[in-house]
Amino acid sequence: MSIIVQKYGGTSVADADRIRAVADRIVRYRENGHDVVVVVSAMGDTTDDLLMLAQEISPVPEPRELDMLLTAGERIAMSLLAIAVNARGCRAASYTGSQAGIITDTRHGQAKIVEIRPKRIRESLEAGNVVIVAGFQGLSTNYDITTLGRGGSDTTAVAMAAALGAEVCEIYTDVDGVFTADPRVVRTARRIDRISYEEMLELAAAGAKVLQSRSVEYARRTGVRVHVRSSFTDEPGTWVVGEEQDVEVGMEAALISGVALDDTEAKVTLEQVPDRPGVAATIFKAVAAEAVNVDMIVQNVSHQGTTDLSFTIPRDEVPRVESVLERIVKEIGAPRYTVDEQIAKVSLVGAGMKSHPGVAADMFEALSEQGINIEMISTSAIRISCVVRAGDAERAVRAIHTRFGLDGEAPRAEG
Ligand code: ADP
Ligand code: ASP
Ligand code: MG
Repeated sequence: MSIIVQKYGGTSVADADRIRAVADRIVRYRENGHDVVVVVSAMGDTTDDLLMLAQEISPVPEPRELDMLLTAGERIAMSLLAIAVNARGCRAASYTGSQAGIITDTRHGQAKIVEIRPKRIRESLEAGNVVIVAGFQGLSTNYDITTLGRGGSDTTAVAMAAALGAEVCEIYTDVDGVFTADPRVVRTARRIDRISYEEMLELAAAGAKVLQSRSVEYARRTGVRVHVRSSFTDEPGTWVVGEEQDVEVGMEAALISGVALDDTEAKVTLEQVPDRPGVAATIFKAVAAEAVNVDMIVQNVSHQGTTDLSFTIPRDEVPRVESVLERIVKEIGAPRYTVDEQIAKVSLVGAGMKSHPGVAADMFEALSEQGINIEMISTSAIRISCVVRAGDAERAVRAIHTRFGLDGEAPRAEG
């Protein structure tokens, strides 16, 4: 029998009514003859609430204990959903990540899946159960409970789909699919029917949180077909598939697939850094030793033997990097560093830009027409990103979206 993996996000299981609606959908799939494995997120804002509670108690909670706490959110959702499915006369059993055989490395809060041992899940399916797995969590190679980073239930779902050879991995969320921009920021954004793994990966990494970027990486590596759709309707959503599959159906890649916004980073600037070989290596080795992920890097031209060097990092890693920076500026002989948290990154993504010159120029012009200053620029083969003031970011996204002809009709206001 074909296996379908379905993942339901926090809004989709936010209260008892929503959980009952999800149970109805699961039972329908089961009645249509599918084996169903469900991956579930914590209800509503549970994860944020638990994080705040921990921070109220200690500003820097022990990562191991924080993971133990946060995984409780998914555990509540999975058991309530199993109760709801059982109440419909359809057998269901829920499993924690650890019980489901999800083995991760030991990096608390950001663990990577290293292996899936789906024996228990297969046996439960064979026994006729709908299997419900807690998202976002696993068991480390040291036998500790870990979490997979914010949005990690998407990755649990794709990894389970890959391990079980599922026909499809359906990601049910609170929007109708992947749009040309966050529909909450750009009301005229359009839903995309199909998008390649590469483009989706760039969009996700650039801040389109509809899918965790690791889940897209995992899907690309294992060839899992992902269908992102709304848990509130039965409409088809967005298929995330390989480029070859697009070619098969005769689709041509769009010039631009979308615009993304990331407001989770901060910019660090080291001022008047001595301009000599080895300085950049010293700085970034020290930052990497703290396991802080550096995104963009910009070094200015040298004046009188010194230069300013800026880079961006996740804002919540600023406290961790600051102690390193204190030490580094002394070591390399720079007078000071500054941290700017009022930045945002706006990115334009599209496979077609590889063969179309002038895309970057058009993007910069769209920003300049709005009087928006660009502070940093970085590119990949299919992405251009600009750092701007946080307060300008949403206006920047809308201007770029319009400039590249992505606007559709605005949905009519409800009510
Ligand atoms: P879930 O709880 O279901 O995992 P998330 O909040 O993680 O949902 O992701 C869905 C949200 O992602 C949407 O509500 C939307 O605001 C946001 N989003 C950002 N960029 C996009 C995009 N390009 N297309 C669709 N949604 C997007
Ligand atoms: N509950 C976790 C989070 O809020 C994981 C997820 O929803 O995917 O990040
Ligand atoms: Mg999510």
